[in-house]
Order: sequence, then structure tokens, then C-alpha cells
Amino acid sequence: MNIILLGPPGCGKGTQAKRLEERFGTVQLSTGDMLRAAVKAGTDLGKQAEAIMNEGKLVPDDLIVSMIAERISEPDCAKGFILDGFPRTVAQAEALDAMLVDKGLKLDHVIELEVDEAALFARIEKRAAESAESGAAVRADDNAETLKKRLDVYRQQTAPILPYYRDSGRLDSVDGMQDIEAVTGQLVGILQE
Ligand code: AMP
Repeated sequence: MNIILLGPPGCGKGTQAKRLEERFGTVQLSTGDMLRAAVKAGTDLGKQAEAIMNEGKLVPDDLIVSMIAERISEPDCAKGFILDGFPRTVAQAEALDAMLVDKGLKLDHVIELEVDEAALFARIEKRAAESAESGAAVRADDNAETLKKRLDVYRQQTAPILPYYRDSGRLDSVDGMQDIEAVTGQLVGILQE
């Protein structure tokens, strides 16, 4: 089962992808996590991505597309994967479709998590506070100022992929304002249809 979770920063994609991974064994592929790991490891990709991420902008499509193409070819993805944070532009969505055809794979579900913008600010602040409390690194882009930019980028560059999937009848939407368990319940329902 190959799945895309879509939605703005803070909508719960990462949380739900982890829960679905536990339940179905489908690997969570978070491009944000991969990029943060590359930044930490000081790779060429990390060096190119760091400043862009800290500004809340998007890393160039070609870098992201080749990163994902390599990742989904790894053996652990054979059981299925959940894309979390990719695609983020129509060009990425088109590249993904081509990549899947190339690899003889298909998308089973594209699901959007819908959350009010005001709630996103509260969630991002909570995530930063929880990381700080637990001693984990607070993400450099988890602050109100950068979130505003990330939301602008979402509206301008990422939201256009919703009609891309909707028009081809591939999009489901779930109310991401519900509590975590209820959202998981609805996602599981869709995946088991
Ligand atoms: P995330 O953890 O998904 O919120 O991603 C954090 C940051 O990584 C984003 O604000 C972008 O700078 C970068 N990023 C993650 N995924 C992508 C993507 N698919 N395309 C371009 N940039 C990305």
C-alpha cells in the first residue's frame, strides 16, 4: 500500500504517518526528516538545504525528487510507504507519477488532513515547547514567524497539488481538527476500504 498524506505544516502528517507505519508496516518517508538528517550529517545536500529550510522555503524539486527516488527503491519500501511532506509542488507530483510508472508501482491513496490555520500556530508552538522540555532539539523553523512563511509557501506552491489529485479522482479528505485517535480511525477506515 502506497500512500500520500497531504496538508499544511502542523496538520498532523508526521504523527499519523508514524501511527499508520506501526499499524500496517508501511514505511514513513518524511522528506523533512531526511533533510534534517542530511543537515545534521553535513552532507552536500544538507549544506544546500539548511538555509532554505530555516527560511521556510522549499528545497529545489530536482534535489528532493532524486532523494525520494533513491529512497523508495530501498528494500524496506517494498511493503509500501507513506509519503509525508512530499510532493510539495505540482512538478514534484508529476515527477512522482513518472517515477512510480518507471518502478512499476502505484499510488493507493492520497489523503489530505484539513486543519484551521489558527490551530496550526498553536500546534507548532506546542511542538517547540515539548521538544524544549524533553531536551530534544527544537526545529529551527518551528516559530510563528517562519510558520507564517511556510503557510504562504503551502498556499502558493503546495495547495495546487490538491486539484491535481482531486481531478483525477485520487483525493480523500479527513478532518484533522479531531483528536489524534479519531483522525487515525478515519485514516484506517479509508485505507481498509
Ligand atoms: P517538514 O518537516 O515536512 O515540515 O519540512 C521541513 C522543511 O524541509 C520544509 O519547510 C522545506 O524547506 C523542506 N522540505 C521538506 N520536504 C520538502 C519537499 N517535498 N520539497 C521541498 N522542500 C521540502
